[in-house]
Amino acid sequence: MAIDFEVEPEFQEKLDWIEEFVKTEVEPLDLYFRGEASPYDKKNETAQALVRPLQKQVQEKELWACHIGPELGGRGYGQVKLALMNEILGRSSWAPSVFGCQAPDSGNAEVLAHYGTDEQKRRYLEPLLRSEISTTYAMTEPQAGSDPSYFTCSARRDGDEWVINGEKWFASNYKFADFLIAMVITNPDVPVYKGSSMMLVPHGVEGLELVRNSHVGGGASADSAGHAYLRFNDVRVPAENLLGDEGSGFKIAQTRLGGGRVHHGMRSVGMAQRALDMMCERVLSRETKGSLIAEKQSIQHWVADSWIQIQQFRLQVLHTAWLIDKEGDYAKIRQHIAGVKVATPKVLMDVVYRALHSHGSLGVTDEMPLANMWMAVPVMGIADGPTEVHKNTIAKTVLKQYKPHDGLWPSAHIPSLMQGARAHIEARIENEIANL
Ligand SMILES: Cc1cc2nc3c(=O)[nH]c(=O)nc-3n(C[C@H](O)[C@H](O)[C@H](O)COP(=O)(O)OP(=O)(O)OC[C@H]3O[C@@H](n4cnc5c(N)ncnc54)[C@H](O)[C@@H]3O)c2cc1C
Repeated sequence: MAIDFEVEPEFQEKLDWIEEFVKTEVEPLDLYFRGEASPYDKKNETAQALVRPLQKQVQEKELWACHIGPELGGRGYGQVKLALMNEILGRSSWAPSVFGCQAPDSGNAEVLAHYGTDEQKRRYLEPLLRSEISTTYAMTEPQAGSDPSYFTCSARRDGDEWVINGEKWFASNYKFADFLIAMVITNPDVPVYKGSSMMLVPHGVEGLELVRNSHVGGGASADSAGHAYLRFNDVRVPAENLLGDEGSGFKIAQTRLGGGRVHHGMRSVGMAQRALDMMCERVLSRETKGSLIAEKQSIQHWVADSWIQIQQFRLQVLHTAWLIDKEGDYAKIRQHIAGVKVATPKVLMDVVYRALHSHGSLGVTDEMPLANMWMAVPVMGIADGPTEVHKNTIAKTVLKQYKPHDGLWPSAHIPSLMQGARAHIEARIENEIANL
């Protein structure tokens, strides 16, 4: 049995290159375009002119779109290597786009790669993987988020077309998207698990109304794509825009969200580490009441607690990534993926809070990245399903591994066990003595 925590030297070289490249070439984009441009806006010529040469370098280093298999222009390194990469990319909001693995496009690309027809791949996946377009995933509805059985947005077949009616809520990045993948009810007479389908819908198609765009936290800025409230009024798309089989929408959603949840976890390891880095530097740099803040015991415990939590979380994420590579099927390891999903906001909440608090007033300002990171806490707890739902999944899966115990007392009840042990030992004593 081999458990090896070492990274192969060839891949470690790549990670070292990524680390340096993100620091020197990508993080300046975060600062230069702060509040002014979004990595998802492919029509921003200045930004794209700066990003394209960086993407080219990433491609030359064989690090482009690593979430996708080699047959589609990715590398097929697997999730463990992707996890190690994402830890670094999670430090910058532009880095995932420079490396061709940004959410929600990465999940949408995975869905197209798995379920798309050749024509759908040519038309939607190829330009996406060339980073020429952005995309949106529209599943949540305003009256129903966590529970898809309340979804009502539907598509009915009319000749060679599907006609879509209903509403979608929080469709991220719609503002910059060329198309969206919408989950719609195609058979209302069966449960959503069998009666929903995925549909490819071009941006701005007739009848698709943007009711409004919502923004997380402090409101809109030019770099924020926002989250669209969409209304489908008799939107017609050709029959061939059905993605996968009719009725397979829920299954596809699980595939898509499974990967997405772990990828958020991978990037969050990097974000939490960055928060701890900031905290350590600050407390070593500032003195109060005659000693460094780093010398106060409460701060030392915070540093230790944060390091331990990041270490535990990182191992959990890497182990889950390893399981995905091994099993090749998100459904088989739902419990582990749900575990990462639940741990992500908790680790960020603890570590980012400590880092922010250790910076005092400066920590809450927009002069440090910490207040922004703080917003990631509720976002990670809600997006892709709230914590409670994932805890339910874990509990159900864990409980399935156990059986009830007959009788009044539990199986670990010591007096009952002693009775059994006594009878066993006494029989042995009799036997051993008889053999003397
Ligand atoms: C930043 C961000 C980006 C997003 N992007 C997208 C996107 O691109 N596409 C998309 O389709 N959706 C997107 N979403 C929506 C997201 O998937 C939903 O917000 C999520 O599924 C929860 O649905 P809801 O917001 O309607 O909350 P609700 O379902 O109303 O839940 C509200 C709260 O109720 C509690 N709760 C819910 N269910 C249970 C339960 N079973 N047991 C106990 N308590 C429960 C939880 O505390 C939960 O937070 C995004 C969300 C965020 C925050």
